[in-house]
Amino acid sequence: MKLSGNKPSQTSQTDAPSALATASGERQSTPRRLFLLSATAAAAALAAGLVPRLVRPARADDAKGAGKPDHFEVAYSDAEWRKRLTPAQYEILRQEGTERPYSSPLNDEHRTGTFFCAGCALPVFSSRTKFDSHTGWPSFWTPLDNAVGTHTDTSFGMIRTEVHCRRCGGHLGHVFDDGPKPTGLRYCMNGLAMTFRPQPA
Ligand SMILES: [Zn+2]
Repeated sequence: MKLSGNKPSQTSQTDAPSALATASGERQSTPRRLFLLSATAAAAALAAGLVPRLVRPARADDAKGAGKPDHFEVAYSDAEWRKRLTPAQYEILRQEGTERPYSSPLNDEHRTGTFFCAGCALPVFSSRTKFDSHTGWPSFWTPLDNAVGTHTDTSFGMIRTEVHCRRCGGHLGHVFDDGPKPTGLRYCMNGLAMTFRPQPA
């Protein structure tokens, strides 16, 4: 089982970048201070009309669904998923695995374009909302409309918000409250769970 730290390296203060690559346990560390800051930032963004959709949750807590649905629009048997995906993709998308940080080429993908679910090809994120979180995972401050679902993930003794494809249920990553403006959210995604297509000129 591969686990990696999900905490972004701040460019200042307490986080030693070297600790990130060697972190052995995925953990959510969202101090109350950051939580309040992100809520304030989101409120300010709302007031300034910077938030694309008013229904967009301002905090990861608000985005938590009750549980992951049993059925999805695109559904295959476990055996079929194994055939359709590479072993690494299967581990992430169907078994909620986490890729090694800095292992995905999509981490360094900076072109204009769209990121798609690797399971069913649903467009899930736009390059417009991608930012460098210094975590080693492709990170976004908001998903595309109607692209993802979330549920509370209590695995490994932590409370996190899991993010999956709305159409096939494939695990994409987690969302945290320590992202940048305008949402204050950090969608921490596995590059293996997505494909990228540059925008045609
Ligand atoms: Zn999908």
